[in-house]
Amino acid sequence: MDHSHHIHLLATGGTIAGKGKAGKTSGYEAGSLPPDSLLETLPPLPSSIHLTVEQICSIDSNEVDDQLWLTLVRRINELSQTDIDGFVITHGTDTMDETAYFLNLTVKTEKPVILTGAMRPSTAASADGPLNLYQAIHLADKPEASGKGVLVCFCDSIYSGRDVQKINTYKTDAFNEQDLSCLGYMRDEECYFMNESLAIHTTASCFDVSRLDRLPRVDILFFYAGAPADALDYHASKAQGLVIAGTGSGNYSPEWKNKISELAARRIPVVRASRIGHGIVSRDIHFEGSENCFPAYTLPPQKARILLSLALTVTDSYEEMEKLFRTY
Ligand code: ASP
Repeated sequence: MDHSHHIHLLATGGTIAGKGKAGKTSGYEAGSLPPDSLLETLPPLPSSIHLTVEQICSIDSNEVDDQLWLTLVRRINELSQTDIDGFVITHGTDTMDETAYFLNLTVKTEKPVILTGAMRPSTAASADGPLNLYQAIHLADKPEASGKGVLVCFCDSIYSGRDVQKINTYKTDAFNEQDLSCLGYMRDEECYFMNESLAIHTTASCFDVSRLDRLPRVDILFFYAGAPADALDYHASKAQGLVIAGTGSGNYSPEWKNKISELAARRIPVVRASRIGHGIVSRDIHFEGSENCFPAYTLPPQKARILLSLALTVTDSYEEMEKLFRTY
């Protein structure tokens, strides 16, 4: 009888698969190496881990779009019905927090799904990809990683797909969970969990994208001193919903507030998020002048955009949408 655990690697590109000038950490091309060459740089895996590999695409993660997300979620949902025990996804770091949150809301499995990547290309001195990938494969093999939602394993830490955010432009310790730090640590092959996300995810999530061929368009608008309100008109003519990256606790000028109220007549929901990156945006009647406007709570703009897009697939009630923002 075979007692090995089957871990499946889905490779999408990113800096972890990047190649550049020997030793340099900058000026490289992301997503240029196939996953097999990444695996050659790892210490041998134990015979208890049977690893299979599939290249989904080979891109810089700034090219990630809803089509890739739908491909990934379908593939994971399909393969989770097989003997596979856990999944690892290699991914560029720039949009890893977005992909992790999208999958956290849409994959229908309790099996571990772990994203990882690297800040330095494989050809850099002290490339961080090999250890990140090595630890992600081991984390995907751990029973403790089951049922916790989609996770990110990066620089010796474990993060929830719900709260993870890229917080540094080039350091190898590039992720965090805002005020919450992380779920736990990795030390070599071992994982040490300390926290869990309370937000609903994966098998308990109400979102089913299996029949969708695209996601409703939601645009993000960044507010700054003197920002013209006509930008809202433009985006409202293109998108089904808007997210505002407001100042402070999700704030903007009276002109923007008036414009948002006008959008109520066009049935455009507008979510107030913050450009700050820490803290919470809660109900505030001073900025919410109409029923189509509600807060993002602890989601940053790029994740509020994902949740609003998914919310638009299940309801057109603003009240229901806000409830989703309180629970996911
Ligand atoms: N631009 C790269 C990407 O997101 C950055 C990285 O992977 O660190 O694909």
